[in-house]
Amino acid sequence: MALTPRVTLNRLDVAELELDELETHLGGAGVPKFHGRQVFQWIYRRGVTDFEAMTDLGRELRSQLSRDLVVATPELVGRETSTDGTTKLLLRLADGHRIESVFIPDTPSQTFCLSTQVGCAMKCAFCLTGKMGIVRNLTAGEIVGQVRVLLRELGMLGDRFNIVLMGMGEPLHNYDATMKALRILADDHGLAVSPRRITLSTVGVLPALERLATEPFMPNLAISLHSTTEDQRDLLVPINRKYGLKELLDACRRFPLKRRERITFEYVMLNEVNDTPEDARRLVRLLHGIKGKVNLLPLNEAAGIPFERPSDARVNRFAEILAQHGVTVSVRRSRGRDIRAACGQLITESTRNAAPGRQLAQLMAGTAPTR
Ligand code: SAH
Repeated sequence: MALTPRVTLNRLDVAELELDELETHLGGAGVPKFHGRQVFQWIYRRGVTDFEAMTDLGRELRSQLSRDLVVATPELVGRETSTDGTTKLLLRLADGHRIESVFIPDTPSQTFCLSTQVGCAMKCAFCLTGKMGIVRNLTAGEIVGQVRVLLRELGMLGDRFNIVLMGMGEPLHNYDATMKALRILADDHGLAVSPRRITLSTVGVLPALERLATEPFMPNLAISLHSTTEDQRDLLVPINRKYGLKELLDACRRFPLKRRERITFEYVMLNEVNDTPEDARRLVRLLHGIKGKVNLLPLNEAAGIPFERPSDARVNRFAEILAQHGVTVSVRRSRGRDIRAACGQLITESTRNAAPGRQLAQLMAGTAPTR
């Protein structure tokens, strides 16, 4: 019987490295810097993760790299395509946890919606991912790995795409890995995704938002506002109890924006909860003096979510009031609802399995997950 070499456990994962970190590592092993750039090009531009297939590297170097390094990639375990072309991938991470990533075509751009955590700690009252609780942060390599899998699976290597950090998780609750992922994505020798094509969506973790304001590398910002009063936002977006609406909007006012850049304010619309004409007028007043625009998200309903989606008439009335007061407003057309790939609908199977009833049934059937 062949023994699996133990060294696989000790190989350094290139997926977790920025180019300069890879170069430094190679340098320590006596390998010239420019080979790092070649490796980056193979991994990100050509989708090759097997060093033996990197044919412009010498044979000895290829074996050396295969011995020392690995490029870990999330494993595709499920794929669903909506009638509208939206495709949701279910990915398994090295430790068995699962996340979802979504491709949204023709918006008019091609957009990848990435997860930044397994689950989410924010517990927004209308979001299914929040029901999972937080399992763990994703690493930078796992965040970028979603892009590599999407490009491969959709046959999009070499195509242009946008990224929204609007999948599972709160990106500013996993700051370091998220920012590192953005730097890896931006590298000219790799995918060269400019920060202008990336949108980070956040509930407003204030210290992290202040830190983001100082980054040299800044994505577009979307704020999940969802409410116009402190009391109501406390209930809908619980982190508001720690970092309130007023402080959040003050931070937005100070947020450094270049010419023509604007902050997007996302506003999930919950029937007869936050969708009245008074709410719309309060929103106009709150946003006064901020370079922003509003994106209305009529609720994607789901079992276990105790709210309703308002009628189109209510959504339109709300939008009209904003527009009449000079606020730029759009209504997000939900994509992929039939495959539960729309906003707030991402929740992974392992967690669904974790429901006590389901666990008991699995136990009795002898199929309990080992975790
Ligand atoms: N944690 C980040 C990214 C998450 S999702 C954030 O909160 O911004 C992206 C958007 O979808 C957020 O504005 C989120 O509040 C919204 N959303 C969550 N659940 C939803 C639902 N059921 N229907 C519509 N939008 C929802």
